[in-house]
Amino acid sequence: MKAAVIKKPGMIVVEDVPNPTPGAGEVLLKIEACALCGTDQRVLSGEKHVDVNIVGHEITGTVAGVGVGVKTIKKGQRFIVQTVIGCGQCPMCKIHRENLCEKGFVAMGYQFNGGFAEYMVMPKVAVDQGCLIPIPADLSAETGTLIEPLSCCVNGMKYIPLEQMEHIVIFGGGIIGVLNGLVARARGAKRITIMDVSAARLDLLKKLGLPFDDLINSGVNSPAEWVKTATGGRGVNAVVVAASVKALVGVGLNLLRRAGHLSIFAGMPKSDPVLPLDTNRIHYYELNLHGANSSSQEEYLQARDFLVAGKIDARPLVTHRFRLDQFNEAVKTQGDPSCGSLKIVIIP
Ligand SMILES: [Zn+2]
Ligand SMILES: [Zn+2]
Repeated sequence: MKAAVIKKPGMIVVEDVPNPTPGAGEVLLKIEACALCGTDQRVLSGEKHVDVNIVGHEITGTVAGVGVGVKTIKKGQRFIVQTVIGCGQCPMCKIHRENLCEKGFVAMGYQFNGGFAEYMVMPKVAVDQGCLIPIPADLSAETGTLIEPLSCCVNGMKYIPLEQMEHIVIFGGGIIGVLNGLVARARGAKRITIMDVSAARLDLLKKLGLPFDDLINSGVNSPAEWVKTATGGRGVNAVVVAASVKALVGVGLNLLRRAGHLSIFAGMPKSDPVLPLDTNRIHYYELNLHGANSSSQEEYLQARDFLVAGKIDARPLVTHRFRLDQFNEAVKTQGDPSCGSLKIVIIP
């Protein structure tokens, strides 16, 4: 089969590799589509280490074969792939929060070969955990690839009462900021503002016709001044930080009204994550802080159901499609802001 193989940092070659075969308890998937993610970009460049040389974790596939002992999964069924695999034993895994596994989770496309290939094997531990999430026949393969990143956004906002919210602000107009905004919309938040420092990025979101109320250039407008005017000085109900800029956490806290919520969706640079905060504002305003670390099965099911029910329209989000043999072109397109990509999907 063909696969995009990482030879060394920054050097990926699409070449023939032996066809994988499913062992006992394993499932062979024919890849229908696999989307490129920002994390993939960091792995491909060598900035982030993984154990395998075929990556890709936003996957839609069809079962092409099953190993001995696989009873409930049949050839021809369609699935998307849950990335995270927990130990199954620790207290977090026992309550199905495998994304918070105390032993540290492993993941498809990181410790096991991923989806930038024609075929991929789901290991027994993933099959047993239920990492194959069924999708209906009429859900397109490329929309299926969005379930993984969408599930992470569902997770990051799961304790935020969006249904009752008048106004939320999202920092970051990349695909993750957009998906957070779409989850907020689907859950009933009334006014959704996306802020980004890139005018080109905001123009792209406008061009795609995404259902947001305000697209604000926070390089030109002060977020504090803008929110003050827009809310009559009260502040917004929630802020999501979907850009890897730690200062935005402090900026975001100051935008919140009483009982507000702030989600730190983005991871910050590991060398520099510490930030001084006004703890009295958190205390007297009774503010709520949320983390976000990947997702577990429940969030995949919710993300899938948002798409299947049409509560989230994913069609405008995929801006570019490439064949597997164009893999390097796809990576270049994602890394070049002038290409105006939001989500790029590889269709083998
Ligand atoms: Zn991803
Ligand atoms: Zn565990």
